Amino acid sequence: MTAHIPLLDLGEQYDTIRDEVDAAIRRVVDSQRFILGPEVEAFEQALAAYLDDGREVVGCASGTDALLLSLKALDLEPGDEVIVPAFTFFATAGAVWNAGLKPVFCDVESEHFNLTARTVAEVWTERTRAVIAVHLFGQMAVMDELVALAEARGASLIEDAAQSIGAAQEGAPRGVATALSFFPSKNLGGFGDGGAVTSADPDFADRLRKLRVHGGHKMYHHEMVGTNSRLDALQAAVLAAKLPHLTDWTDARRLLATHYGEALADIPEVISPPVYPGNVHVYNQYTIRVRRRDALREYLSGQGIGTGVYYPVPLHVQECFAALGGRRGQFPVSETLCEEVLSLPVYPELGTERLLRVVSAIGRFYA
Ligand SMILES: *Cc1c(COP(=O)(O)O)cnc(C)c1O
Repeated sequence: MTAHIPLLDLGEQYDTIRDEVDAAIRRVVDSQRFILGPEVEAFEQALAAYLDDGREVVGCASGTDALLLSLKALDLEPGDEVIVPAFTFFATAGAVWNAGLKPVFCDVESEHFNLTARTVAEVWTERTRAVIAVHLFGQMAVMDELVALAEARGASLIEDAAQSIGAAQEGAPRGVATALSFFPSKNLGGFGDGGAVTSADPDFADRLRKLRVHGGHKMYHHEMVGTNSRLDALQAAVLAAKLPHLTDWTDARRLLATHYGEALADIPEVISPPVYPGNVHVYNQYTIRVRRRDALREYLSGQGIGTGVYYPVPLHVQECFAALGGRRGQFPVSETLCEEVLSLPVYPELGTERLLRVVSAIGRFYA
């Protein structure tokens, strides 16, 4: 009996950095400074240096809040429309709803899972004020046409980069805000919840800094109705300790993806994820498309191999959004993807030997 291969093993990673992370936690506990302060500032600066795109980094409590704060900072009217993909994690649309705005769903493109200027234009109305481009599974949506469309029609573009820290696209124009998540399973994960927004606009970043502390820099004076959404100092310290390793971890994910692509090419039933020209994909998920997905998943599970289905139900038919009038058949690509996608283990410590065992098991299933 060979060892179980989980979808993700955070313990394996912790084992490689235990001393650095434990020392960082100890430092915060010794200081007894838990709310904002030097740890959060140091991490924000280190992350800005890592991203190296001239944008400011504002830490907050989660990726969900990074989206919510960005939407609040846009200062839209209640009921204004924000276009989001039907095929994404729930938070993308939930944040729009919770900001008092109306999520309007659009379809995605089948090869790369992302919305495009074409699918966005299809659902545009005169009340559209913003678009959230999700860079799903670690690959950026094609930005130039999206930004051009939003600019031409006077709307804002927010990037949901919760799964794509470190991803890049040659010459890509960027949105006003980029939301990052440090949920433990993301490529840079904390020991709990955490998030950040990046922006090249200093005024926008300043509004975010106010919004995360109830809407004002001066205590007990509130210019806006903000909320409590700070990046925890303990999380910031853990993330700062992990950040120097992110490049290596990303390289490892990319190498695994290359090996998957080569090995899976021999199994005609499997469509492996392509990379857009000019893109750097960081593979938060390595997501294939297959027929008989659920049976394959069951088989792999019996072989001790963990997989994930991101996502089984598209957002336009979620019960909580019934009032928006979404119906089956409306976004056929998103609906088909929900039946066909399967995410395979791609965590940096996986290694080629275990990867090949995953591929062999898939091969046996279709043989
Ligand atoms: C994880 C994720 C979020 C939310 O991040 P949290 O930190 O869990 O709140 C938002 N959008 C996408 C696409 C995500 O994958």
